[in-house]
Formats: sequence, structure tokens, C-alpha cells
Amino acid sequence: MLIDNHGRTINYLRLAVTDKCNLRCFYCMPEDGLNWLSRNELMSYDEMLRACKLLVGMGIQKIRITGGEPFVRKDIMALLTAISRLEGLQELSLTTNGVLTAPHVTDLKAIGVKSVNLSLDTLDAGRFFSITRRDEFGAVMETLTGLLKHNIEVKINVVVMDGKNTQDIIPLVALTKDLPVNVRFIEEMPFNGDGKIHQTKISWDYIRILEEIENKYPAIKKVQDPAYSTAYNYHIPGHLGDIGVIAAYSRTFCGTCNRIRITPQGTLKNCLYDDGVLNIRDLMRAGNNDDAVKKSLLKVFNNRVVDGWEAEKLVKNTGMHESMAAIGG
Ligand code: SAM
Ligand code: SF4
Repeated sequence: MLIDNHGRTINYLRLAVTDKCNLRCFYCMPEDGLNWLSRNELMSYDEMLRACKLLVGMGIQKIRITGGEPFVRKDIMALLTAISRLEGLQELSLTTNGVLTAPHVTDLKAIGVKSVNLSLDTLDAGRFFSITRRDEFGAVMETLTGLLKHNIEVKINVVVMDGKNTQDIIPLVALTKDLPVNVRFIEEMPFNGDGKIHQTKISWDYIRILEEIENKYPAIKKVQDPAYSTAYNYHIPGHLGDIGVIAAYSRTFCGTCNRIRITPQGTLKNCLYDDGVLNIRDLMRAGNNDDAVKKSLLKVFNNRVVDGWEAEKLVKNTGMHESMAAIGG
């Protein structure tokens, strides 16, 4: 088991496999995209697999593949299949925008993916276009249908944005009436890739999001949050699905933080809000054997910040807010 210097278990790795994306969600990256990583900067699949194997050996039980958009990276199913076979791994999941995912749903089921997080900020095709700057609403809905048909658990990630999609909160909650989906409303975070800090305070925090839902559904009930959950979880009596609210900006969940992140270029992040604590790609490329890499990893796991506020204070270049696509969410 991996335990950090604050007594928290580390058992969850989020691995971003690319910074590239086929959407341009305005809260995540600029319209022109990012300064994409070169092929050599990106970790290769062999390097990713070695990092995963090593970390699973150290105590990681769950790996989530994210990006950028995972399905934009060539032959992603080969990596997913190899990771799914790692001895000791209990859960492999992924986060996707759903644009290219539908044709892979059968294969995802076959390699044992039980749960997929699908990003969908609105049920209106026009607003989808204005948020993502791409006309792909139909493809995402096709993925949703395919996942449910194959009994893959679906969590729908909704970033709540003032003036953009707050009118979608109630229709998205209503989806849980007949569909067994978990709709999770996420506070917008300042990771939009344009180098500017857009908020020091957000107008739609988790409290306001919850009030909006409670006004329409006064019977909504708090349910027990699963261990390590970043969401406050709720259920509306008579509905098939559930609701979650994630205080990603307010950072109320750091006390039980069980996760680490690896970015597409191999930067290991102990916290979403830190700017990286080591580069695992460089360690491997320098010819270190597994024991040496493990030793370096243990050192940083024993030096984790207490919460996202402390991490943010320690960031060297405070004016810079990178794209969530370069972090993985
Ligand atoms: N492309 C995939 C997708 O969109 O699902 C995976 C990567 S995306 C960076 C992972 C998650 O981060 C998505 O659910 C997305 O909505 C969320 N995200 C991106 N930028 C965000 C921001 N500024 N604030 C809050 N969540 C954000
Ligand atoms: Fe792409 Fe996901 Fe970022 Fe949207 S949130 S631009 S889909 S990486």
C-alpha cells in the first residue's frame, strides 16, 4: 500500500495519453488549440505501460485514461488492452468527450472497462457547438447510447459555466429519471490554456448548483459518498440515476485525496493544482532501472502538499494556467 506523508492512501492514477483534442471546449483550451507536444516529448506507449506496471506494483489499484482526447491518439485500444492485463490492477476506466468513442464500445466492454466518464455540458446541439466549437453533439449522444446498451456504467461530466449552460442543469438532472447515469456537475476551474486567470471567485459554486437542483427537486436526498469520492452524491426518489456535485474549484475533497496524475509528457503531479513534482519519462529515458524510478517516486509521495490551496501557492509561474487537456482533468 502507498501512504503519503499525511496518512492518505494513494491508489488511483490518472494518465493523460495526449494533449491533442478534436473539440475546443472554451473552458479547456483556446480556439486555435495548444502548442501541441511533439512526438518525442510525448511518452511512448511502452513508457506509459512501464510507468503503470511500476505504479501498480507499488499500490495503484485504479487507472483512468484521459487526455486531451484519448481516442485522438493512434491505436489507443492497444494501450488500453495492455494496461487492462496488468496484474494487480483492479479497475481501468476512461474519460472521453465521446466524439470518436462509439465504434470502440464493444472492445472497451471486452477488455473489462466497467465505467466511462463522458463529458457532456448541454443537451442542446446549438449550445454544444458554442461551448465546444465543434458540431459533434450527435456523435457524443451515439456514444452515450452505446455505453448504456453495453451496460457500461456512465458518469456524465458537466462543467457549470455562468452564462453558458446553467439552463441545462435541470434537463441534465432530468436525464437521471429514466437513464441509469450519474450526472456530475463540476465547478469550473481556471485551466483554460490561455495563460490568463479568469476567476478569483466563481459564481456557480457547488452550493449554488445544489440550490438550483433542490429548488426543482425538493425531494432530492443526500446519499453516502463512496470512499475517496470527489463528488457530493445525491439521489432523487423514483429516478434510475444519481447526481453528483464536484467542488473542484472550492477544493473541499483534498483531505482524502488518493490520486496522482501523469501528464502526456510524463510530469507526475501530486495535486491537480501543483506544477509537477518529477518527470517519470525523463527518469526512464535516463536509463534508471525500476528500483531507482521507484525510489524517486516514493520520495515525492512522502512530500505531498496538504491541499490544492497549498499546491497553488507553491506554483512557480503563478500567472500561468495551463490547459486541462495538458493535465487530464
Ligand atoms: N477530452 C476528454 C473529455 O473531455 O472528457 C478527457 C480530458 S478532459 C480535460 C477531462 C475532464 O476535465 C472533462 O470532463 C472536462 O469537462 C474537464 N475540464 C476541462 N477543463 C475544465 C475546467 N476549466 N474546469 C473544470 N473541468 C474542466
Ligand atoms: Fe478536449 Fe476534453 Fe478539453 Fe473539451 S475538455 S477541449 S473535449 S480535452
